[in-house]
Amino acid sequence: MKNIALIGSTGSIGRQTIEVALENPDKFKIVAMAADSSYALFEKQLALIKPEYAALADSAAAEKIAEVPAETKFCGGKSAALAAASYEKADVVLVAAGGFAGLKYSAAAINAGKTLALANKETLVCGGDFIIPLAKSKGVAIMPVDSEHSAIWQCLGFDLGAPFRRLIITASGGAFRDLEQKELENVTPQMALKHPTWNMGAKITIDSATLLNKGFEVIEAHHLFGADYDKITAVLHPQSIVHSMVEFSDGAVLAQLSCPTMKLPIQLALSCPVRERLKGAELDFTKLLSLEFRPLEEGRYPCFSLAKACGRAGGTLPCALNAAGEVAVRAFLSEKIKFTDIFRVADGVVQSENRQSVRSLEQLTEVDRSARLRAEELISKLA
Ligand code: MG
Repeated sequence: MKNIALIGSTGSIGRQTIEVALENPDKFKIVAMAADSSYALFEKQLALIKPEYAALADSAAAEKIAEVPAETKFCGGKSAALAAASYEKADVVLVAAGGFAGLKYSAAAINAGKTLALANKETLVCGGDFIIPLAKSKGVAIMPVDSEHSAIWQCLGFDLGAPFRRLIITASGGAFRDLEQKELENVTPQMALKHPTWNMGAKITIDSATLLNKGFEVIEAHHLFGADYDKITAVLHPQSIVHSMVEFSDGAVLAQLSCPTMKLPIQLALSCPVRERLKGAELDFTKLLSLEFRPLEEGRYPCFSLAKACGRAGGTLPCALNAAGEVAVRAFLSEKIKFTDIFRVADGVVQSENRQSVRSLEQLTEVDRSARLRAEELISKLA
């Protein structure tokens, strides 16, 4: 039995983690659970899971929780939520909290010596330069939950340090992969929220349409697998069946294939190195199955190129880009700016960032805050 602390239980990954745990009651037990502010869903989850410890980071939302199971100690507030990430009885902490906020939970889990199942991208995009050395110094293993990184990790035999020649990250191409460049000016949030193959949260679905998400995944792979940027290639693969590939020194390529379900990488991050049974990921090779790969035309996806450039430049640039991206996507979703303005805002914020080496969580928090302000300024000029 593995004891799990689940951070971000009400988001898309959090909800699927709960399904995985409930489908394997003899393998996984969620002992601690935290979320931000979605109190109605959190209350339902409490009744279902009955964790020993639970917290909502938003104190006002925590006050709205009416019923808490007798088995559960429930608290409200940011530090109470943070305590879930270092809950003593947890063997694995799955950090699925969204956005920059996820970084502090990952750092807390690592500082407590817990195995980190990592679904939060910002942990490595913004904080990779200190999170990876911190995990090494504490002897903490990181289990990737992002489907592409899970695929690469599987191809490397669950060894983040295994040798390879090239990492090949697949991208569906997002909602607008077949649109002409000029048509992008007028796409609506509703159109952007229809992802062709994956069902995910709103922010990441928009980031998939701009391919900013794919750029972030290149940065994640750089940190996670110690890969030079020259050794990471992204290719378009519209079917989302091959989740990523690894090329080795002799030219052999290993790929991981399955139906697009996040439950596979979630479950594997919790059960590794054992593979447990899972329904819904199987492919039917008795039916026609075609797999297609196309070069990723960077000119079509300026957010992707910007993210890669920020990754290469390093330091605080990816953190500033992430903050700008979050603010710009929110502005697009509330129809304040156009789809193509997401890049304009992100690029403007990155250009004005005074790049520094990454030193601490406090420093990154300040970089994040100031980048958000600059993004808001740019948005008010565009709107
Ligand atoms: Mg992914």
